Amino acid sequence: MAGRELLALAAPVECVCCGTEDFALCGPCERAVRILTRTPFRAEGQAPALMDVNGSVILPVVAAGMYREELAQAVLSFKKHGQGQLGAVLSKALGRAISGAAGTLQGYCLIPVPTTNSAFRKRGFSPVHLLLRNLDRRGGLGAGNLTNALRKGSALTEGAASNHDLSGRLRALVPAHPLAGGQKGLGRGARAKRVRGSMQARLSPLAPDIRGRPCIIVDDVLTTGATLAEAARAVHRAGGVVMGAVVLAATRPPDAADPPAVHGATAGTGG
Ligand SMILES: [Zn+2]
Repeated sequence: MAGRELLALAAPVECVCCGTEDFALCGPCERAVRILTRTPFRAEGQAPALMDVNGSVILPVVAAGMYREELAQAVLSFKKHGQGQLGAVLSKALGRAISGAAGTLQGYCLIPVPTTNSAFRKRGFSPVHLLLRNLDRRGGLGAGNLTNALRKGSALTEGAASNHDLSGRLRALVPAHPLAGGQKGLGRGARAKRVRGSMQARLSPLAPDIRGRPCIIVDDVLTTGATLAEAARAVHRAGGVVMGAVVLAATRPPDAADPPAVHGATAGTGG
C-alpha cells in the first residue's frame, strides 16, 4: 500500500473512463473492460481491406472486443500514455483473444504490427509490443512466441504475384483452424493502396527467421484492415505462413451472419 500511495503522490492518476481518483482504471470500469472482452469474435467481415468483392475472407481476424465504451477509453489512453495498470488489463484481454484464435495451434509466431517512427518518437513506446511483452512476462502467450519480425519502411521488391501466393497458402493451410475462412487475394480500397509496401521484414542477422512458421499478426485497433493486410503481405514475403490476425478491439460490429464467437475454439483440430 505504501508503494502505491507514494506513486499516487508522485503522479496523481484518475480512472481514464469515469475520473475516479487513484487508479488509471477503477474497479467497476476494469470489470466493464473484462465484460466487453469476454467473448472474442471474428471481425474481418466489416473490414473492407480484409474481404474481397465477392465477400470472401482474405485475412481472418479475431477481436477481443468492440471498440466502444470503457474498452475504447482504456485502449485510447493506453496508446497515448502506456499506463501499467491499463497494460495489465488489456494484455489479459489480448491474451484471451489470442488463445481463442490459435486454438490448438502450437509454436506459432505472434508478430506485432510495427508503429510508425513518428508515433514511436511521440510516445516513446509501441503499445502492441508493450502488451505482448507484458503477456510474455506472465507466461500468457500460451503456445505462441513473441516474434518481432516486421519494421516500417518500404520493401525493396514487391512481387506482383504475392497476393496470389498468399491466398493459395491460406487456402491450403488454414481450413481446419478456428481462424479459417475462404480466402482470396489481398487488398483493395484507397487506404490499402496507401499502406501497401509500407512494411517489411527486419533484415538484420538478429532478426527472427519466420520462414515456414505459422504466424499470427497482432494489432491494437481494427478499422479498415489495410494495416493488417499490409503486415500479412510483409510476413508472407518473408516466408512466414500467415494464419490470421488478432486485435484488441474492432471499430465496427461483426455481421449478424458471422460465426458469433471463437471462445473455447471448439472447431480447432490443430495443424
Ligand atoms: Zn472508472
